[in-house]
Amino acid sequence: MFDGLTGRLGDIFDRLRKRGALSEDDVNAALREVRIALLEADVALPAVKAFVTGVKEKAVGTEVLRGINPGQMVIKIVHDHLVELLGSQVEDLNLEAVPPVPILMLGLQGSGKTTTSAKIAVRLKNRDKKKVLLASLDTRRPAAQEQLRILGQQTGVASLPIIAGQQPVEIARRAMEVGRLEGFDVVILDTAGRLAIDEELMAEVVAIRDATKPVESLLVVDAMTGQDAVTVATNFNEKVGITGIVMTRIDGDARGGAALSMRHVTGKPIKLMGMGEKTDALEPFHPDRIAGRILG
Ligand code: GDP
Repeated sequence: MFDGLTGRLGDIFDRLRKRGALSEDDVNAALREVRIALLEADVALPAVKAFVTGVKEKAVGTEVLRGINPGQMVIKIVHDHLVELLGSQVEDLNLEAVPPVPILMLGLQGSGKTTTSAKIAVRLKNRDKKKVLLASLDTRRPAAQEQLRILGQQTGVASLPIIAGQQPVEIARRAMEVGRLEGFDVVILDTAGRLAIDEELMAEVVAIRDATKPVESLLVVDAMTGQDAVTVATNFNEKVGITGIVMTRIDGDARGGAALSMRHVTGKPIKLMGMGEKTDALEPFHPDRIAGRILG
């Protein structure tokens, strides 16, 4: 990911570095190129505007241009603003509640929701030594509940026994009840996805939310879907309320626009990123490391 953007920014910054002195016009010209590079990487326009304005304010009209190495200073400012755009700090999962702590998993079909549910379970089990229960509330896709059960079995995580014919809210209540009775620390509730956002989906997840009062409502989005991912996040955030985002397929060749836009547009942090299909391919989202990677 970010390859195209890294190449473009690298060219712009190489030219800046080579210049001994920089004028305000030089910086403005470079920032015009940065703006185009970000738009071509599919970053949402409001995020691009905020970013370019922020860098310009910091770089122009301060001591920066009169400094010893102005090119390097401008690049540092770009780096700092990239970190800010990506969310500034690492945001861990919030498990601050009386156990069993419910985590609600949201997202469209194919975004990687079920895989991510299992990945989070594995992470909490191995890293935090938590006792985790996985529950699929997906009664629409016939194999969905079975898929999660198998993932649980493969990774040594418990999954809620399947009872045919139960509705999502009933399953969610049962999962919380089993979680309480059997001393689970965390219950991960994997909701059904849809091909696109529809009223029925939203009504269903709102009913599940109200029945379980999740501490984390995590939206799973596919980095490859670019600005569509940002639209999906805005919708889920307005209609259901999300506490964080998990971005999948960071291992793919997405242009990176979704990752760079998400925080600014939704106000919600990317907490985790999916780096592959395996159940251990999940990592915290480090804004500074990602910014470093983008700048090459
Ligand atoms: P769901 O419909 O949202 O539950 O999606 P699934 O969890 O079934 O995932 C759909 C496909 O995406 C599966 O083939 C997963 O293995 C794959 N997948 C999920 N997360 C990632 C990721 O981070 N990277 C890659 N490369 N593939 C992923």
